[in-house]
Amino acid sequence: MPSPEPAVLELAAPISGIVVSLDEVPDEAFRQRLVGDGIAIDPLGDTLVAPCDATVLLVHKAKHALTLDVDGLELVLHLGLDTVKLDGAGLEILVRAGDRVKRGDPLLRFSPDLIATRAVSLLTPMVVANMDQVERLETMSGRVQSGQTGVLRVFRKAAAVGDAPKQGATVLRSAPMRVQDPSGLHARPAAALAAVARRFTADLRLAKGSKDANLRSVVSMMALEVGGGDLVTVLASGDDAAAALAAVSALLVVESEPRAATLAAVGTAEAKHEGAKPAGAIPAGAREVAVTEGVLHGVSASPGTAAGVVVQLRYDDAVPAARAADAKIERRQLDAAIAAAHLQLEGLRTRLTQEGQGERATIFAAHQELLEDPEMLDQAIAGVQDGWTASWAWQQSYTAQAERLAALRDPLLAARATDLRDVGRRVLHLLVGRDTQARSLPMDAIVIAEDLTPSDAADLDRSRVRALCTTMGSSTSHVAIIARGLGLPAIAGIDIRALHIPVGTRVLVDGDTGRLRIAPSAAEEQAASSRRQARDARRTAAQALAQQDAVTRDGQRIEVAANIGDVRQGADVVSGGADGVGLLRSEFIFQAREREPNEDEQTELYGSVARALGPKRLLIIRTLDIGGDKPLPYLPMEKEENPFLGARGIRFTLAEPAVMRRQLRAILRSAAEGKVAVMFPMIATLAEWRAASAMVEEERVALNAPRIPVGIMVETAAAALMADHFAREADFLSIGTNDLTQYTMAMDRTNPRLAVQVDAMHPAVLRLIAITAEAAAKHGKWAGVCGALAADPLAIPVLLGLGVSELSVDLPVVAESKARVRELSLAECRATAQLALDCADGEEVRVLVRARHGEVN
Ligand code: PEP
Ligand code: MG
Repeated sequence: MPSPEPAVLELAAPISGIVVSLDEVPDEAFRQRLVGDGIAIDPLGDTLVAPCDATVLLVHKAKHALTLDVDGLELVLHLGLDTVKLDGAGLEILVRAGDRVKRGDPLLRFSPDLIATRAVSLLTPMVVANMDQVERLETMSGRVQSGQTGVLRVFRKAAAVGDAPKQGATVLRSAPMRVQDPSGLHARPAAALAAVARRFTADLRLAKGSKDANLRSVVSMMALEVGGGDLVTVLASGDDAAAALAAVSALLVVESEPRAATLAAVGTAEAKHEGAKPAGAIPAGAREVAVTEGVLHGVSASPGTAAGVVVQLRYDDAVPAARAADAKIERRQLDAAIAAAHLQLEGLRTRLTQEGQGERATIFAAHQELLEDPEMLDQAIAGVQDGWTASWAWQQSYTAQAERLAALRDPLLAARATDLRDVGRRVLHLLVGRDTQARSLPMDAIVIAEDLTPSDAADLDRSRVRALCTTMGSSTSHVAIIARGLGLPAIAGIDIRALHIPVGTRVLVDGDTGRLRIAPSAAEEQAASSRRQARDARRTAAQALAQQDAVTRDGQRIEVAANIGDVRQGADVVSGGADGVGLLRSEFIFQAREREPNEDEQTELYGSVARALGPKRLLIIRTLDIGGDKPLPYLPMEKEENPFLGARGIRFTLAEPAVMRRQLRAILRSAAEGKVAVMFPMIATLAEWRAASAMVEEERVALNAPRIPVGIMVETAAAALMADHFAREADFLSIGTNDLTQYTMAMDRTNPRLAVQVDAMHPAVLRLIAITAEAAAKHGKWAGVCGALAADPLAIPVLLGLGVSELSVDLPVVAESKARVRELSLAECRATAQLALDCADGEEVRVLVRARHGEVN
């Protein structure tokens, strides 16, 4: 019987340019058709467009490649060669996974200049990845017009080969292997693996966490988003499973051509026989590589210490990509699951409110709002209408939305990705009938997870949990809010190896330093427990004297002020014993609103704090410190390559004089309510200071308002080194050690991996503080510190000794900081400070301070 005529698919050029044969592409994976077969284009434009009507199947995390689904055909568009390394620089993705696109619709815009200078080549391959579905290809040549000229004709086979695993077969499983290439399993290494896999008949799957992928499909593997450092496992079943597993594993662990050696075994390389398991059902234990001793570092998310036994928390988002029989039924199931999730959240809110945990209750109120997010709903509904199951459509939708959020540079917004995943998982589990609730915990549980969602926290048995550690997040993430709310010590951004500490291992969590000690000795546990008791006693004693001045033993009064970001905290400043507000982070007030507060509103907001502080306490308002990594949705900002070094702080507001002047007028007007000063963030040059202070003066004159103190923040090495010039003109200098440290050491303060090194106690930073304080004194001005260093009990003697006369700290530690000042003698601090400046590093400074001023708990 003659086979049916294959269907033909016409593909237009995805970009204008000259068609080039894959044989001429200087990349082995494409030249050898390992990724797939097709053509490449030497581009003459800056936008990749859809070559036909399609669904976007996958957008690579590094933004350099997309995969389109055309009725089951997987089409890979790969902008340039080796562009994965750019990590998104110069690339702008215009679509999302799940989007339906029409021929000619723009998909990806790029900066040709940037790519041309940084990438191996701009040559852009367009290949069919699943060639097993293709009878033959016809390629065109010459100059082509994007979205118009046909470049590839695909003749499809009559029947496609399915890739579902064979149920009931024996599954061989490799040991876990770690991906070493920092770029992860991108197109090229995935293609090399697929090429080997295709030599065998066995079902071969690559598993990462609870997800897995067909090892024959480049796209499927790319969709796993295996990053550098991730652990993967190979599963094989079928006639030649053992040989296939050995061949693929060998490719994974041995450096070979073409650059497929992205992985290295971390367990024994022996395959274990197991009965068949549903795809993705890899027990958490199988991924663990015993980490049984040592100290793992992260950042402090909630203070305190606790000892206990490890419990590993894992998520399960896995559902099969399945077609549905009836879209109407799927839609009804989706609606019902969302409604049920709403009810669950309502119940949680009520419970937490009744328990007096208002802040946590509001998290679930926000989850209810997220559940109504129209984009997430629309994408899920579109998936259902396209014939996918409700669970798959929903999972695709919320994970895509969460990834979008996670990619944002604003850490606060990015942290909301966790909420989205949390609420998404809640609905998913309702859809598939998976129970996420009851988790039985041992007594003294130390919970370790990649991330901890509010739902997890609500489900945890709090009588058994002693501490929380997450590999994601920072001091602003949910784990911090949750842990502080529960009064539990917590570490965020902990070394990823924490996920491989065997369940049941005894550990000691130090939430103050962000350190986790594995298998502590009895003496270490005892010491931690004594520290805890001493600390509690110290706190109680400090609190009793909170309202009294902080005066050193030799009679020097030190101003101890508070850092706040919310105008409602004015009363807490007074009750907490602070001498004033050393830093009001005004951008927090702006960020909490959907539009810029107008001049009158700002006047009232700042005035309310000034009123709460009364006539004696100074309120220092910092002008907007936004730009770069801290966007405001209603103030458009240019995207920058290096936002921390870009138009941030004063640079941004000087470029937006209308915004700046509105804020300055409001600050000047609010001074009628109390004692108000203004300061500018991120000052680097005298010109910036002069422009900003001139604006204050102009607005003051226009308002006929009295003068207020005007100062600068010293957060750049330039400002510190030029402090004598600034001190001559400004009324005060407030040192922002958080930024001063990151700029001096060239270490991102938000990067958990650098948390240990980005040390404000480093003598390099101390020397800049010394220069600043000395310059201030020379000109009769005061210098303060409002960065986190001001609250560090080991740093306080050094700062006082260097000539700092104001410490501005977070509200909860005002009383303890005052107590610390009272223990010290300024004369001794001066001697300590001189020695500290000569130390080799921050640790040496700490040893010095402990030796001269005693251990602090
Ligand atoms: C600082 O940089 O030390 C500072 C106080 O400002 P922020 O932390 O708000 O950047
Ligand atoms: Mg700063």
